Amino acid sequence: MDTVKYLLSEDRMPRAWYNIQADLHQPAPPVLHPGTGQPVGPDDLAPLFPMALILQEVSTEQYIEIPEEVRSIYRQWRPSPLYRARRLEKALDTPARIYYKYEGVSPAGSHKPNTAVPQAYYNKMEGVKRLSTETGAGQWGSSLAMACAFFGLECKVFMVRVSYDQKPYRRGLIEAYGAQVTASPSSETNTGRAILAEHPDSTGSLGIAISEAVEVAATDPDTNYSLGSVLNHVLMHQTIIGLEALEQMEMAGDYPDVLVGCTGGGSNFSGLTFPFIGRKLRGEGDVRVVAVEPVACPSLTKGRYAYDFGDTGHLTPLVKMHTLGSTFVPPGIHAGGLRYHGMAPLVSHLLRQGHIEAIAVEQLDAFAAGVQFTRTEGILPAPEANHAIAAAIREALRCKEEGTSRAILFNLSGHGHFDMQAYLDYAAGKLQNYEYPAEEIAMALAGLPTVAA
Ligand SMILES: *Cc1c(COP(=O)(O)O)cnc(C)c1O
Repeated sequence: MDTVKYLLSEDRMPRAWYNIQADLHQPAPPVLHPGTGQPVGPDDLAPLFPMALILQEVSTEQYIEIPEEVRSIYRQWRPSPLYRARRLEKALDTPARIYYKYEGVSPAGSHKPNTAVPQAYYNKMEGVKRLSTETGAGQWGSSLAMACAFFGLECKVFMVRVSYDQKPYRRGLIEAYGAQVTASPSSETNTGRAILAEHPDSTGSLGIAISEAVEVAATDPDTNYSLGSVLNHVLMHQTIIGLEALEQMEMAGDYPDVLVGCTGGGSNFSGLTFPFIGRKLRGEGDVRVVAVEPVACPSLTKGRYAYDFGDTGHLTPLVKMHTLGSTFVPPGIHAGGLRYHGMAPLVSHLLRQGHIEAIAVEQLDAFAAGVQFTRTEGILPAPEANHAIAAAIREALRCKEEGTSRAILFNLSGHGHFDMQAYLDYAAGKLQNYEYPAEEIAMALAGLPTVAA
């Protein structure tokens, strides 16, 4: 805890991000070049990312200082609040102490600006003019569009088709920030055109949108690519959540027994949990850590731990992760931010090493939990965050069964004010659970790249 105090300044915001790579007992497997099968070097990534972020990606420094320009923007909404969910506890009649860290207080409404701001900053510092990216539900697109507006960068967003149609208000927000939005798959890229030729009605996926955004960045020297999750540096930027939570739990005079976060690519989960897992790895405090994903897109619970592409068009390097296969297109669940075929390599590594657990939640159970949370705590959560709430409620009910009181801390990754159509559909009984898409996943897994051992 002392390191954290040392890192906090008088505005009670951490001065540095925490890098879990410094404390891993065994390093995560390297990222490989798909052509050579050899680990990628900084030069391989230079066409896509600024050198500052490439160095953060491979750094083993325990803490990396947050630039003052970034801290001055963070200060608008950070530290984000940590609440005790007393009315939810009462409704559940549980002896558990339920806490949540609320990231919906950022201007874009989620945790994503925590990394969008530094990513835009480092690109600006290195003279980049434009960023291209993908977005699922539109949370990442709106966060990066905002950060680009702050630093005077242009921003191009490929938005997954199903969300583009389901969530026009998020698209409106991205455009209000001044970015350009294109539905993906689009006819603007080779990848998009190839997919549309085969599947003219494709609902799109994050894997496809990533390919389109990478293609644009790789072919334009003034444009860099920006990813909203999965990569080590993104997870590290998000650790400001957990570093603040460490301090706030101490203020509350408590320490979590269980940590819960929803996982799409793994960034908000890692942001909350890594500083606590770091303490566990250093032997300073034990904690159970639960990652929660949708049954419709279950990479951690049903995926294979293997080298795979991060995108559907196979333009990215190969990363070792829990994957459903890069060509898998998940069902159109409303938690668009959780529709990714893979998982952050660091999260996959921690699961493999037994430091975390993973469970999958059905769409209807997630919404039931979200509505109960809304009625007790007053905050209407993003559909992604509902998965974490469902798992936290399960943990609290287990405490009740066992007659034990444990402290549960979950991350409320964002509000759902742009997801009202999903809530309307849920209330009207129009939402459904999706079967685990076994056949599609088996097909996609059959196409995994072969990598020499
Ligand atoms: C994007 C998003 C997620 C999923 O992404 P992670 O990288 O796994 O955090 C979860 N919740 C919200 C609110 C999001 O916007």
